[in-house]
Amino acid sequence: MLDPKLMDEPARIAALDRYDVLDTPREPGFDRITNLVRSILGVPISAISLLDRDRQWFKSLNGLDASETPRDIAFCDYTIRQRAPMIVTDAHADARFCDNPYVIGDPNIRSYAGIPLETPDGYNIGSLCAIDIVPRQFDPGQIAILQNLAALVVEQLELRRIAERDHLTGALTRRAFLGEMNRAIALFERHQRPASLLLFDIDHFKQINDNHGHPAGDQVIRGIARLCTGLQRPSDSLGRLGGEEFGILLPETGQEDAARAAQRFCETIAATEIPGTPPLRVTVSFGVAELRSDWPTCESWLAVADMALYEAKRSGRNRVAIARHDASHAT
Ligand code: GH3
Ligand code: MG
Ligand code: MG
Repeated sequence: MLDPKLMDEPARIAALDRYDVLDTPREPGFDRITNLVRSILGVPISAISLLDRDRQWFKSLNGLDASETPRDIAFCDYTIRQRAPMIVTDAHADARFCDNPYVIGDPNIRSYAGIPLETPDGYNIGSLCAIDIVPRQFDPGQIAILQNLAALVVEQLELRRIAERDHLTGALTRRAFLGEMNRAIALFERHQRPASLLLFDIDHFKQINDNHGHPAGDQVIRGIARLCTGLQRPSDSLGRLGGEEFGILLPETGQEDAARAAQRFCETIAATEIPGTPPLRVTVSFGVAELRSDWPTCESWLAVADMALYEAKRSGRNRVAIARHDASHAT
């Protein structure tokens, strides 16, 4: 039977990317599921494996120590090609796996049961699997449990995604944005990768609410977020940090380029009529802070950007201010 979604690799990758889960830290909710697989099925190893372009990356791996493997030797790469569970009762007797490096060498896989992780729109992004180092059968009751747990993995990924997005604007929530900042901080500390934070707040926003009503204010907040999403690079993240305050995280960007980007955002927002009833114009003020070892945490980095934002407000609004080198001493 032809199942086009099983063969549409670009759409499958897009479905995986929507979860924004690759290379994120371990999360107890996923580890709990692989723990359950081990204890209910009595297997030594269980994994939640996600199939990226050329690697399998483990959101949870229980019973082994690894974070990823090449894709072309992954059992799970076979699992995602089908809708049904993939069962291997003895890898030595299976032409697909008998010379697989994980079968002939560490960890000496002999049997495997994998359930495709199918998204609500029908793409297999990975698998939940049970692995043993001896040949074995998996009975129908065990497979049914594994299928239910695989559905739970996908539900958990869905909830995680919903919790990351602000309901009004579709921007990242404050919590998710802080997560992105922490990723940038880790890259800065490990590999000296630069990053900059733009913080902005709508000018005199109370007047919009007072003069046109709260729903019109909401329209403006939504319009500004849409405008910024259109202006930013794909690698940039937009977060709604408070009512009418936003952050834009620019990876791989130093202070000068960040200030230029902020200036461009600032001018474009001031020059654009936000659609709505009535259409409105607003200005915003920006604080810019490149990540530095003087402010190595989310809180301190946000604080120096916030001081620059305050400076932009104080000196007249509708402008960009840059964090001072000595800003951290004032925090
Ligand atoms: P400033 O130029 O100093 O920023 O002046 P401002 O009037 O914008 O002052 P401030 O940033 O302190 O005010 C934020 C106002 O935004 C207060 C609050 O009533 C309103 N607000 C916060 N969240 C929302 C929201 O989700 N929708 C709407 N319509 N208004 C909001
Ligand atoms: Mg404001
Ligand atoms: Mg504000």
